[in-house]
Amino acid sequence: MATCFWLRSCGARRLGSTFPGCRLHPRAGGLVPAPGPAPGPAQLRGYVGGLAGLSAALLRTDSFVGGRWLPAAATFPVQDPASGAALGMVADCGVSEARAAVRAAYEAFCSWREVSAKERSSLLRKWYNLMIQNKDDLARIITAESGKPLKEAHGEILYSAFFLEWFSEEARRVYGDIIYTPAKDKRALVLKQPVGVAAVITPWNFPSAMITRKVGAALAAGCTVVVKPAEDTPFSALALAELASQAGIPPGVYNVIPCSRKNAKEVGEAICTDPLVSKISFTGSTTTGKILLHHAANSVKRVSMELGGLAPFIVFDSANVDQAVAGALASKFRNTGQTCVCSNRFLVQRGIHDAFVKAFAEAMKKNLHVGNGFEEGTTQGPLINEKAVEKVEKQVNDAVSKGATIVTGGKRHHLGKNFFEPTLLSNVTQDMLCTHEETFGPLAPVIKFDTEEEAIAIANATDVGLAGYFYSQDPAQIWRVAEQLEVGMVGVNEGLISSVECPFGGVKQSGLGREGSKYGIDEYLELKYVCYGGL
Ligand code: NAP
Repeated sequence: MATCFWLRSCGARRLGSTFPGCRLHPRAGGLVPAPGPAPGPAQLRGYVGGLAGLSAALLRTDSFVGGRWLPAAATFPVQDPASGAALGMVADCGVSEARAAVRAAYEAFCSWREVSAKERSSLLRKWYNLMIQNKDDLARIITAESGKPLKEAHGEILYSAFFLEWFSEEARRVYGDIIYTPAKDKRALVLKQPVGVAAVITPWNFPSAMITRKVGAALAAGCTVVVKPAEDTPFSALALAELASQAGIPPGVYNVIPCSRKNAKEVGEAICTDPLVSKISFTGSTTTGKILLHHAANSVKRVSMELGGLAPFIVFDSANVDQAVAGALASKFRNTGQTCVCSNRFLVQRGIHDAFVKAFAEAMKKNLHVGNGFEEGTTQGPLINEKAVEKVEKQVNDAVSKGATIVTGGKRHHLGKNFFEPTLLSNVTQDMLCTHEETFGPLAPVIKFDTEEEAIAIANATDVGLAGYFYSQDPAQIWRVAEQLEVGMVGVNEGLISSVECPFGGVKQSGLGREGSKYGIDEYLELKYVCYGGL
């Protein structure tokens, strides 16, 4: 324990050669520094669609460590999930590159923590401004690598940039406390200090926003980061690195080490167990979260975990059907059902059930348009890969085999192997897979219920609790249900709840900690109590 503390302290660096592991060696891990030029067409081969005409500076393929673009010994391909076309070959970092990135972040932490809050704020603001200036290009990168419809990608870029803006403001509002103890000759002070280097691991479904939601808070607090983006979507993370560099964020403060799925386990372990790392911040599945919690436990690191959900969407008899349908469309089908807060289970009270199912099916047919994310009018892009399609297909087949009725959709879409039809199932029961396994796809299963108590019991009968939604016009019921749902976030007569100003996070196995809002920066700050005596 004492050793870990020593390794993480910046004093260790000043001991120099007595602890060589604390020094950044530019060629550590066999990396070859390659400062400068943007990737050529050979590296971004094969793709002339949505990325054509983009600034080459934003289309990076190397890792970004210590302010330098560094290739790795191997590369991995990134594909457009809509067409299967190759977008490019990206540096496939391994354990040695990961360790070098941690050392770079650690070196940078020792000076970044001393940078005034005002200056950190101003650099984050510059980064934000650059994101806004480049928002169209950044959105096209998201659509190309994740398949997300371009309009949603634009929305994500704004959401993502707003985290930098928000935390540039929060950076200057980190306050301590003075406490008056019973002893007249003492005063107790509470200081807030940055935690240290944060290992940041993010998923593919929000390739930009899941990074800035963490990194904005971390940098504002005075921490530095090593980001491991998802294999499917490294380009957004690397474009953010280019803009961070242009904004003047000092070398080593924001590092990105892309890697293939094959290397994710080792790279994840390397950054999450390194003694120079003090914090793990993860967004992804509960399964992976548990692995990272094991890593954290061994060296007692701080953690933030944004994990999976199984959001209930409850429609009570008193609900306004049109409002409920609009909310259902928004909460279920955003990003083709691939968000952690997507409704996973629709619970509809007997009295309103038939009207809701009919209106929901009509609205789906009218409003949901499956296509390539770059095409005008597309609202439903491809799923991220064929495995994701197989999961939806399996859930539909399982439900139908146990008595569910397909109201609309129900099968793969003719556009290609990664597309699935927006699907509505009725007569769903709790023994079906889709009611207890996160779908992460365009499937809306409807369970009929009779009483409020029954709905609450079904909604809470799960070991995760991220978001929950319900529609009711009864004020007393609204209070009761909002308080009883075992989730971190509740939408009352509302299907879209995310906002940088509000705390995002879950209860139970949906996670630990909160991101965004005035609370998000606390995840990257330690409290230090100073007892000032002899007064
Ligand atoms: P995932 O498989 O857990 O992957 C997330 C990240 O973890 C990726 O970068 C992945 O790398 C990496 N990873 C996988 N195994 C690892 C290991 N053993 N050690 C270290 N890193 C590892 O999740 P996903 O399928 O990409 O994302 C969907 C999940 O994320 C859903 O459950 C969703 O609910 C959740 N999510 C939660 C939130 C939230 O805020 N609560 C937001 C978005 C998504 P590779 O890409 O290389 O596999």
